[in-house]
Amino acid sequence: MNVRRGEKINVIRNTFGLLAALLLLTQARQVEAGWKAGAAKVRITPNGSMWMAGYSARKKPSEGVALELHAKAMAVEDEKGTRLVFVTTDLIGIPRPMREALEKEAEKRFKLPPASLLLNASHTHCGPELRVSPLPEDGSATERQKISAAYVQDLQEKILGIIGQSLDQLAPAKLDYLHARCGFAMNRRRPTQTVPTNSPHSDGPVDHDVPVLRVTDEAGKVRRVVWICVPQHNTIVLFVLRRLCRLRSRIFGSGPRWAGRVIHDGLWR
Ligand SMILES: [Zn+2]
Repeated sequence: MNVRRGEKINVIRNTFGLLAALLLLTQARQVEAGWKAGAAKVRITPNGSMWMAGYSARKKPSEGVALELHAKAMAVEDEKGTRLVFVTTDLIGIPRPMREALEKEAEKRFKLPPASLLLNASHTHCGPELRVSPLPEDGSATERQKISAAYVQDLQEKILGIIGQSLDQLAPAKLDYLHARCGFAMNRRRPTQTVPTNSPHSDGPVDHDVPVLRVTDEAGKVRRVVWICVPQHNTIVLFVLRRLCRLRSRIFGSGPRWAGRVIHDGLWR
């Protein structure tokens, strides 16, 4: 099997593994009645060209968009009024200063304690770079630094916006969850006599669990599905960029964004 074909099969397995997990929800454990849920989402695709995160070998900023990026929030509240907000983002990660700024502001605006805010990033290697350190005050900041800093400011406001909207939308709901399994992932750090190499290591530690949470409204209609910790490093860019995007420098949400679209289309068609 050549590398390209292997990558393509991984994408297909990933998608079908998640779909299988959703089918298993018929056997899922159900959370007690009296809960509420609310959701909101916002587009976070950069409005213009900017440098991307994930591959230091890139020689130029982004050129167009292959798949829009989103941030999504889902708030849940139990019968005692305890709240938790999940936020998922199509980004490379959540830098610590961003996390700290968001939790501080969420507590101030929505009285949401830091322990009730879960921030998740899909780790796409085709999203914007995130500059979270302050710009130099002597005016020496480059255009690249200014653009990224402005993007981060806008991003943080958008994330706070959907946290607030998801809390405003809280309404009676039923929640189910399970741990499905996505068994194709493999450790990719093969030990050698010196440093580990970046190649398959079938005896290495790996996590195949896929926790899945489903929210249905009082009429039984599925409103939201959240899965977290798909055990895969989302660098499917070789397959995706060569076959679909053609260019290494287009904005793209990577595997989870793609799988999410497939599942969304299947559930809400
Ligand atoms: Zn990575």
